[in-house]
Amino acid sequence: MTHDFSNLRIDFPVLDQHVGGRPLVYLDNAATTQKPRSVIDAVARFYERDNSNVHRGLHALSMRATDGYEAARARTAQFINAADPAEIVFTRGTTESVNLIAQSWGTANLKPGDVVLCTEMEHHSNLVPWQQITARTGATLRYVPIAGADAEGGLDLSAIDELLTPEVKLFAFTHISNTLGVTNPVHELCAKARAVGAVTVIDAAQSAGHELVDVQALDCDFLVFSGHKMAGPTGIGVLYGRRALLDAMPPWQGGGGMIANVEYAASTWKPSPERFEAGTPNVADAIGLHAAMDYLDAIGRPALAQHECELAGYACEELSKLPGIRILGPRPGQPRAGMVSFAFEGVHAHDVVTFADQDGVALRGGHHCNQPLMRKLGLPSTTRASFYLYNTPADVEALVTSLRKILDFFGVE
Ligand code: PMP
Repeated sequence: MTHDFSNLRIDFPVLDQHVGGRPLVYLDNAATTQKPRSVIDAVARFYERDNSNVHRGLHALSMRATDGYEAARARTAQFINAADPAEIVFTRGTTESVNLIAQSWGTANLKPGDVVLCTEMEHHSNLVPWQQITARTGATLRYVPIAGADAEGGLDLSAIDELLTPEVKLFAFTHISNTLGVTNPVHELCAKARAVGAVTVIDAAQSAGHELVDVQALDCDFLVFSGHKMAGPTGIGVLYGRRALLDAMPPWQGGGGMIANVEYAASTWKPSPERFEAGTPNVADAIGLHAAMDYLDAIGRPALAQHECELAGYACEELSKLPGIRILGPRPGQPRAGMVSFAFEGVHAHDVVTFADQDGVALRGGHHCNQPLMRKLGLPSTTRASFYLYNTPADVEALVTSLRKILDFFGVE
C-alpha cells in the first residue's frame, strides 16, 4: 500500500483547468469520475485504427474490434474474479444491468406471494426496477431499514433475520451507499440470503472501481456496476451473473447478435452473454473500460481504498467542526467509504454547491437519487463531497475553506 497519490492529477487532462480563477477541485466522483489519458487514448485509438462492427465480420478490422471487445470481457471477469467471461454481460451501466435482471429474471421467477427484499438506502436504480417488476408480477417489495437518525448505524442488521423469510426470492442491496458513505457487510448479507434460497443482487456502482471485489468470495448471484464511476467511459456497464442463472433466463431485448436461429414464426437464443447483448454493442467504451481497469490495478485497489477512506475520514473530522452541520452516515472516527454527505441548518444544498463552484470546488447537492431515504432522514437534500484517487488532503482543505466562506455569507455561526 505504498502508492504515491500526491500527483495522479497529471494523468487526468480535464483536471488541468481553472474554475472560478482557481485550480479545479473535483469532488463529485460518486456521480462520475474523470478519465485518465490512457482511457481517452484507448477509445481514440479504437476509432482511429480498428473501428468496425464485431462478431459478424471476417475482415481485419472486424476481427480486431471483436478481439478488443472480447478481451475487455475477459479482463472484466478477471477484475471481479468471475469464473468465466461468459458471466460478464456488457450493458449501458448499473441502471440498465438492474433493469435487465428485474425484467428477465423477475418475469420468469416472481409470482404473487413472493417477496423481493431491498434496503432503505438503495439508489433509485436499485429500487424503481424492483417496484416495477413486483407490481407487474404481483410479488411484494420489502425494505431492510436503516439504523439511527442520521443512518449512522448503516443497515439495521437486527431486522434482517426477520425479513429474510423463505418467501424472499431475491435480495438486492448496495455495497456502498452513494449518499451515506456506509459500506454494507456484503459477505454476511449474501450468506444470509443463501440460507433462505434467495438470489442476491449487489449494486457495486460505488465499490467496483474503489476496492477489490471478488464475486466468487462473495458468492453472490448478480453484481452490477458502471464504467464511468471507475475512470472508464460513460455508456458502458457490467452485469455479472452466475452462468447457470444467466443461461436459464429469457432474453431481455431481441435483435441481432443474440439469436441462434430465426424463423418467421419464432427464434432460438444464443447462450450468455450474447443472449443479453442484442444489437451492436458499445465496443469502443468496453475497450476504454479495459484501459480503466488496467489503470486502477497499476495503482492497486487496496491502496486506492485506503487513500479514499483516509480522505473521507479527514473530511468528516474537519467538516464536523463547522457550525450547524449535520453529517450523514458513520460518525467522525468511524470507518467510511470515500464520500461525505452533509446539510446545514438554514442553507440549501444548491446554494452551497453554487457558492463552492465559485471557488472551483465541484460538489453535488440534491437527493442523490435517494428520495425515500432523504424523506426518512427528514432532509430535502444534502451536499455531497466524494473523493477519488486524484484527490488530496489539500482538496479537503479547499472544501472546508470554501464552506466557511459560505457559512459566513449566510450568517451561520
Ligand atoms: N447505484 C449507485 C449506488 C449509484 O451511486 C449509482 C450512480 N449514482 C447508480 C446505481 C446508477 O448508476 P448509473 O447511473 O451509472 O446507471
